[in-house]
Amino acid sequence: MAPGSEIDPQEAKEKILGYCLRKGALAAGVADIDVIERIAPEGHRPSDLWPRARSIIALGVGGQTQGAWSIPARAMSYFGSTETRAYTIAYGCAFFIENTYGRRAIYCPPDMDPEAGPRTPFQSLKLHAEIAGIGARSLAGDILLHPEFGYMYFASVFTELELPPDRPMEDNPCPTPSCVDLFRRSGQTPCMKFCPVQCLSGDIDEDGRQSEMRYDMAACAEMTQQYETLPDLFEAAIGSGDEGEREDLLFGPDNKMLWYKMSVGSGGLLAQCFECMRVCPIATQAPMADPIRRRNARAADSR
Ligand code: SF4
Ligand code: SF4
Repeated sequence: MAPGSEIDPQEAKEKILGYCLRKGALAAGVADIDVIERIAPEGHRPSDLWPRARSIIALGVGGQTQGAWSIPARAMSYFGSTETRAYTIAYGCAFFIENTYGRRAIYCPPDMDPEAGPRTPFQSLKLHAEIAGIGARSLAGDILLHPEFGYMYFASVFTELELPPDRPMEDNPCPTPSCVDLFRRSGQTPCMKFCPVQCLSGDIDEDGRQSEMRYDMAACAEMTQQYETLPDLFEAAIGSGDEGEREDLLFGPDNKMLWYKMSVGSGGLLAQCFECMRVCPIATQAPMADPIRRRNARAADSR
């Protein structure tokens, strides 16, 4: 686009979202930045990070392959996450916007805010994606789910371009009728029942909709966010007066595995344990939840 020429916001939005989809996103949308400003807590609003932001582009990439869901948790925790693909597309999208429209854009950091500790991100990518209409909060700790694509990983881009926003999804696919049925019989949905640390609970109303979601974040994090295990191991080793115990702590299999995961950069240190999603009918059985289902959908469309 030539410098100085007028930008059509709708056309720009279609091109930018089209870029994300071409690069591998399954879904992309524009979040209403005024809504995010109202909902996000102080210090974590878009304006706190970048006051120039006028639009937020949210995109989602697919979760793991169909085959991956059937391997044991101890293996899946190494490679189950596909989030870095989402970040790559978001990086590219920020460059695409500046290169095409001559307007500033930034890849929104998915990282933790160093001033707020290891559990508080700069921005909630989940909130961006939810308000952009590419996912709805589930009973599994608010993990966003999509009726067609199931379980995705999200990334965001901020730009000073003003783009027409999308709306959040009108219907939440969670819980499914089979989840409601199990809940009526046992008091738990599949994700609640199979969480190894029982950190999920909640309630479903008479119409089969979520009425309450409870999530014990600390219990889930202890199970899944192993980066906090490293300082614990060091603290125990430093504090131990017994040489043998210290050696066991520093050279034991737990510590070695953590360093291995970090050195291969698998993202496994930050991964969830996946058991809530392994049993979720939306995550594993949505019509386009994995590459085989998407391939079959493409084949059916071309008939
Ligand atoms: S990631 Fe694991 S520990 Fe956390 S809610 Fe899901 S099943 Fe439970
Ligand atoms: S198993 Fe999936 S669809 Fe069912 S209640 Fe849990 S998150 Fe929702």
